[in-house]
Amino acid sequence: MLNKIGDDTGVSKADLFISDLHLCQDRPHITQAFLAFLKSTATQARALYILGDLFEYWAGDDDMASHQPIVEGLRQLADGGVKLYLMHGNRDFLIGHEFCAAAKLTLLADPCLINLHGQTTLISHGDALCSDDVDYQAFRLQVREKKWQNDFLQQPLATRKAQITSMRARSEQEKSHKASAIMDVNPLALKQLLQEQHYPKLFIHGHTHRPQRQELSLDGHAITRWVLGDWYEQGGYLSCDALGCKSHTLK
Ligand code: MN
Repeated sequence: MLNKIGDDTGVSKADLFISDLHLCQDRPHITQAFLAFLKSTATQARALYILGDLFEYWAGDDDMASHQPIVEGLRQLADGGVKLYLMHGNRDFLIGHEFCAAAKLTLLADPCLINLHGQTTLISHGDALCSDDVDYQAFRLQVREKKWQNDFLQQPLATRKAQITSMRARSEQEKSHKASAIMDVNPLALKQLLQEQHYPKLFIHGHTHRPQRQELSLDGHAITRWVLGDWYEQGGYLSCDALGCKSHTLK
């Protein structure tokens, strides 16, 4: 799906990309680092793209009160003129329009093509590319269905949170038995996506927590793939302007 976002007029401020912060109450230092980022570095940007898994989990927009400082921080950044975009991750795919309206974010489909300073750029969370993880892909299909989501969201918040806790425990346990390669991007799935999307110049995604820059050559097209890192040990972001992209770690 082609989204015509971004333009090339005006001053060349950078667009920033982050993902996999996994914000939750168990890791308050990451939330503090993110709030500080929103008040400093991010204010200088043209746009901030959050490519999924901002939260460790999202039980529904009626749970927004537990995340008020984050909503507030995002809204203040948007009020300062920075465009905010959010894509669902595999943890926070239940983020809905209420949260996006409160935080002044635009929700993007996954994957999505944007115009990044003149370069056609594909952005995605990245979990759909981990096609070797057959169990996960079956789960993903199920929970991305509107009916499953409506049924889930109809339950009381406490019930949903309890279910998420048990789902997370199960997934952690399963992950400990899975080979590490299974949870990485499948090269064929990557190739197919880039072909379907007509060979974008850049591809930016997260999810695997294996940050890297990769120069690909596919059917005669040069494509740069950036994988964003997580925020567990150290926060970081990718910044892209008219001169190119650069990855940064936060102090
Ligand atoms: Mn993820």
